[in-house]
Amino acid sequence: MQKSVFLEDLDAFSYREVLGSGEAMVLIPVGSLEQHGPHLPLGTDTVLSSRFAEGVARQVGALVAQPIAYGYKSQQKSGGGNHLAGTTSLDGTTLIGMVRNLVKSFLNQGVRHLVLINGHFENYQFLYEGIDLALEDLGIKPGAEQSVLLLSYWDFVSQDTLSQVYPDGFPGWEIEHGGVLETSLMLHLEPARVAMDRLVDGPPAVLPRFDRLPVVTERTPATGCLSSAAGSSAAKGSLLYAQVIEDLVADIVGELVREPAAAAARH
Ligand code: ZN
Ligand code: MN
Repeated sequence: MQKSVFLEDLDAFSYREVLGSGEAMVLIPVGSLEQHGPHLPLGTDTVLSSRFAEGVARQVGALVAQPIAYGYKSQQKSGGGNHLAGTTSLDGTTLIGMVRNLVKSFLNQGVRHLVLINGHFENYQFLYEGIDLALEDLGIKPGAEQSVLLLSYWDFVSQDTLSQVYPDGFPGWEIEHGGVLETSLMLHLEPARVAMDRLVDGPPAVLPRFDRLPVVTERTPATGCLSSAAGSSAAKGSLLYAQVIEDLVADIVGELVREPAAAAARH
């Protein structure tokens, strides 16, 4: 049986052994509970960040912690808006506080490197702030042994992959909500959780350059999707997943994993 990479499956004694090695790496998936149109589940962002974390963990020997399954408020220009039923969000201060608590706990217990893998556009700066405050609380300064990486998985999609996934031109990451990227990834990773017969095709959302609060609800397409998922396929999802995992692993190993020789020389 393959050993689980999920922290929730480990017993505390085995986990302490990993911590005792001084090389423990823990990945925290971060997502949202958010409407993703009629064809995708509310948990899409959490499912995808968790699957990317799992894929990376298997290759780099890391562990995957419980995901943060709620996110910062969906915004009209990137997620349709927080007014849509199903979208269930945290205030910025709450998300910052959660991340601050979790980063402190993991680092205090001896995790060497934490990696937050984000799957919900609106989360990013709040995650950054939570990490920064935790490091300040812990007195961790530049040059320290312990560190935290923060990333959003779509930033690892290569130009080459983009041109294959969007042969008619890429609409932009902000309006990739319930669109071809997420739908293709879900078709590849979780086909039973996608209802392609409920997919509604239509033009991409036209949104102003400003944010208006309260939102003008009619600006969000009735589907809740900001771009059409027509043209999604499991094959595109497979290509996206494999390429992003490869690049994530390369970056994380390059940045965090010590050469055994270098580690030995240091002692
Ligand atoms: Zn999403
Ligand atoms: Mn989202």
